[in-house]
Amino acid sequence: MKSLRRACLYCALAVLSALPSGCNSNPVGPSPLPQLPVAVNNDTDGDGILNALDRCPTQPETKNGVFDRDGCPDQVADLYAVVKNDVDLFWTGYFNSVLLRPYFSANMRLFRGATGSFCGSGSGPFYCGLDNTVYLDEGFLESQLSRIGDFAVAVVIAHEIGHHTQNLLGLLGQISIQKELQADCLAGGWAASATIRGQLDNGDLQEGARSLFEVGDPAGTPWFASGAHGSAAQRNQAFATGFARGAFSCS
Ligand SMILES: [Zn+2]
Repeated sequence: MKSLRRACLYCALAVLSALPSGCNSNPVGPSPLPQLPVAVNNDTDGDGILNALDRCPTQPETKNGVFDRDGCPDQVADLYAVVKNDVDLFWTGYFNSVLLRPYFSANMRLFRGATGSFCGSGSGPFYCGLDNTVYLDEGFLESQLSRIGDFAVAVVIAHEIGHHTQNLLGLLGQISIQKELQADCLAGGWAASATIRGQLDNGDLQEGARSLFEVGDPAGTPWFASGAHGSAAQRNQAFATGFARGAFSCS
């Protein structure tokens, strides 16, 4: 996503040097040159935040609207926050303008391996409607980020927040595969909005498609199987439907 792209900031050191006085025919001697100020580089990483205020004076800040004042490059966790903020922004607008009701954002909790929740213990990314929390396994997301790209992570988060909107709309009671494919569709609705708003880089949608393709159910998984998410083709079709026709089409 563009918002996570690191700006290439180069530190522009102003090198001020005294000009040679040149040939001076004045037998009395050269007139004194005015004293030039000594160049003091007090923004080593050139990110616009002076060293005195910069917690990471040798690493440029990632200017993307998140934690922009600490002077430090964003961490992976910041990616999650950027995506969640953007998905929440989309759903706030959608609830207000289309559904004419308020939107309450979900909590987000990061963990590694396994975690407890009001819904019991869980692993991988999941949503618990009883505590309105999106649980994100950092190991899984880091794998998606390194192997596929940032939009793979974005689609996972948008999918889980899709479950949160289902919860707000009383739709969590569907059988598993319906619920999961609808969440993929809702993620597609958000992705279309992010595309229109110029948030995506070239290749982002392919990253999202590959992410969903990899987590499709194995061939032969029954429709009513508990925990079924849909085949790779079904998941990509659901995402594409939400992307092409908007979140309203997902219901
Ligand atoms: Zn899901």
